[in-house]
Amino acid sequence: MPFRAITGHRPLLELLSRAVRRGTLPPSLLFAGPHGVGKRLTAVALAQALNCERHVEYSTRPTSGGDPGGNDACGECAACSRIARGVHADVLIVEPGDSGSIKIEQIRDVVERTGYRPFEGRRRVVIIDGADALGLPAQDAILKTLEEPPSASVFVLITDRPDVLLPTVRSRVQRLRFAPLPPGDVAALLIRDHGMSAAEAHAAAAASDGSVGRAIDGSADGAMEARDVAARLLQGAAGSMDPRRRLDAAKLLTGGGSDRDELSRRLLALSSLIRDLGVLGARADGRTLANADLEPQLQSLLRSYDGDRALRAFSAVDRALAALDRNASPKIVADWLALNI
Ligand SMILES: [Zn+2]
Repeated sequence: MPFRAITGHRPLLELLSRAVRRGTLPPSLLFAGPHGVGKRLTAVALAQALNCERHVEYSTRPTSGGDPGGNDACGECAACSRIARGVHADVLIVEPGDSGSIKIEQIRDVVERTGYRPFEGRRRVVIIDGADALGLPAQDAILKTLEEPPSASVFVLITDRPDVLLPTVRSRVQRLRFAPLPPGDVAALLIRDHGMSAAEAHAAAAASDGSVGRAIDGSADGAMEARDVAARLLQGAAGSMDPRRRLDAAKLLTGGGSDRDELSRRLLALSSLIRDLGVLGARADGRTLANADLEPQLQSLLRSYDGDRALRAFSAVDRALAALDRNASPKIVADWLALNI
């Protein structure tokens, strides 16, 4: 997938594509950021941009001032398609095996291969996905190569936990930070690439912390159901101050059972809805809504949840989540929250 097909991360992609065009790409890179936001996709796109046989221009800005955009891959030539299929001889992907770690032999193998000139492409690209799974000996083994990579090679280390890498490794790589994706982007991607309905996609995106990977895992875990319950609770709490009714609403949250994970999912969905009420109340940019598909419902809740109440409700959900983490009984947490929201 070329740079232009990747969701989000525009400034970063622009930086990379320009460095490819100018030939100024640092030879050792670290892609750091949360799981499931597109770090590996970007590394593969970079390998394509470096080896594409008929690159195209990448630019997100209107072309003016004569500044050409960066280089992007065509996505269709033999090199691009071999890289996409993972069979290009010069694009090596190293990842943890069944043991969960990357073995020193895997590292010795790629280091040795970078000693030769590329076979079919212009640049050899070594992608180490899950670099935090490198043991200390493996990190030691790669240090020298990261410092002085063979001229035709580029190393890309990928991790969501850069801090577990040795400081000596971190100091030899240029770190690029990938941010979580806005919920709207996650939802659009789930609809486009994963065939989800709008409601499913928005519910999963709202609970995803900006990670497509997590959204996909979460959607199987009942994100939509959790959001539905959370919305009904808010609706109920908005309309009634009567404590008995509110305690009835608490039963909605626990489903009458005591499943901690389920309650926690529903509380997270609640928190995301209340955050959106805050966004709408402040008349902030509607594109930042996590639950954009529920905007009409949220607008009608705004009458009850003015700024102060939304803020109190938000912090109540936060306290409820913390109590649940500390092992409080789900029923007590749900009851308390229903009275305080
Ligand atoms: Zn190409």
